[in-house]
Amino acid sequence: MAIDFDPKQLGSELYNGGFRPMFIGGQWVGAQSGEVSDAVNPATGERLATIPDAGVVDVDRAVLAARRAFEGPWSKFSPYERQAVLLKIAELVERDWDKLCVSDTLDMGMPIMRTLANKRRVLGMLRFYAGMATALHGETIDNSIPGEIVSFTRKEPVGVVAAIIPWNAPTAATVWKIAPALATGCTVVLKPAEDASLTPLMIARLMQEAGVPDGVVNVVTGKGSVAGARLAEHPDVNKVVFTGSTLTGQSIARAAVGNLKKVSLELGGKSPVIVCKDADIDRAVPVAAMAVFAHSGQICIAGSRLFVAREIHDEFVARVADFAKALRIGHGIETDTDIGPIVNSRQARVIEDYIASGQTEGARLLTGGSRQSGPVYDGGNFLTPTVFADVHDDMRIAREEIFGPVISAFKFDSIDEVTSRANASPYGLAAGIFTKDLGTAHKLARRLKAGSVWVNMYHAIDPAVPFGGMKMSGYGREGGVEHLYEYLETKAVWINTD
Ligand code: NAP
Ligand code: MG
Repeated sequence: MAIDFDPKQLGSELYNGGFRPMFIGGQWVGAQSGEVSDAVNPATGERLATIPDAGVVDVDRAVLAARRAFEGPWSKFSPYERQAVLLKIAELVERDWDKLCVSDTLDMGMPIMRTLANKRRVLGMLRFYAGMATALHGETIDNSIPGEIVSFTRKEPVGVVAAIIPWNAPTAATVWKIAPALATGCTVVLKPAEDASLTPLMIARLMQEAGVPDGVVNVVTGKGSVAGARLAEHPDVNKVVFTGSTLTGQSIARAAVGNLKKVSLELGGKSPVIVCKDADIDRAVPVAAMAVFAHSGQICIAGSRLFVAREIHDEFVARVADFAKALRIGHGIETDTDIGPIVNSRQARVIEDYIASGQTEGARLLTGGSRQSGPVYDGGNFLTPTVFADVHDDMRIAREEIFGPVISAFKFDSIDEVTSRANASPYGLAAGIFTKDLGTAHKLARRLKAGSVWVNMYHAIDPAVPFGGMKMSGYGREGGVEHLYEYLETKAVWINTD
């Protein structure tokens, strides 16, 4: 992909360390306490901006604004008008696409060519849900009650939705939470991650420009333990949609019990990639490697458990290691970077701890396993892409989500065996299969306990196709028509026509 602008130049125009307010009830405001925190560039350690550190009072104001908008102006918008607003947002996101991507890259590190490449998907989400806004409908159902009694259903918006998102794909996550909410007539309070709040604030500005009424979309920045926790327990929030870690998802589900608000959770994973002995090795090597190394492993669907058929294991794993060695580590803002920084130093230490545990427990380190050092890297958190072989199923690096650039490779002998080992994980988010045999592909696709299964590919996500997890990877689905039902209530209406 060729680009016709200079990302570094654009970045220096966007952020200069100044204050970026949050968005509540159509107003751009600071936290009532005056507290702020720094938005930091993980490649350099530099402060890009300061953002408000919302407290409980700020969250409560945002929820009140969302409630008033839900019952007031927004409830008068027809499906066609909501569709028009979504299409206008899509137009503005397309207009400002370069800026949004540079902002994402600066704030959380993903290489700019990757953030830019998400365009079709993000615009697709807005336009898909714009289309769905005028396609919502209930059903007329024949009942068996004597007399002439008509029964039908209505689909109604669930109300005020709290959307809590992680830092690893801020633009996509913001759009994927808000678009179905607007399509269905809900209102939203979005809490982005502290590590990546700048682009969600930029998107809120575009929503304002697109004519979204005040209070329909609110963005509160701040700590998960304060602002996020308040949203999860808030008595006037009807639904929480959350993407993040399994641990936080569990605490949100507990907090939601108070008013029995609805919850959907997109959580972590430890996804298996299974390479059968008949796989097209040339094609499978780069895909299996990038199933983890894309975004330095900081993606929920990272294919971090690589199961390779014994017959081809040594060659395959050596080639994945060679592929890893050739990746260019650098600042995300450089257009030739393959692998950017880890989002913050705490997370980098967690990953290093996992790498150390792999070595202590006896896995064989084929490549990586260290910090990338040198003048370009010293301000940030750069880890080298890491491949472990001879991993045993009971090692920590085999069982736990690392959320970093670490592949754990295993040998397997049969389809039955690999199925049960792949499924022996508390997670069930995604899985990859490489084979030329149609029977094997179908068998594995049916048997694997995962919300998405990719055959001879990985990473595909589309607005029209449901995405989400089984087991401790969460519940609820994003994408497709199913996503809309997460934001809708079904009401049954009975009419006695006698
Ligand atoms: P995280 O710590 O769970 O944070 C996610 C969001 O929750 C952030 O906005 C965070 O705020 C907030 N939060 C933290 N504690 C909270 C609490 N007690 N109550 C309410 N909200 C709270 O996850 P992360 O480390 O940012 O992201 C990595 C995880 O997300 C990984 O496990 C990954 O697998 C998962 N993930 C899943 C998907 C998916 O679709 N399944 C997609 C992407 C990521 P602060 O960060 O500001 O504290
Ligand atoms: Mg940041």
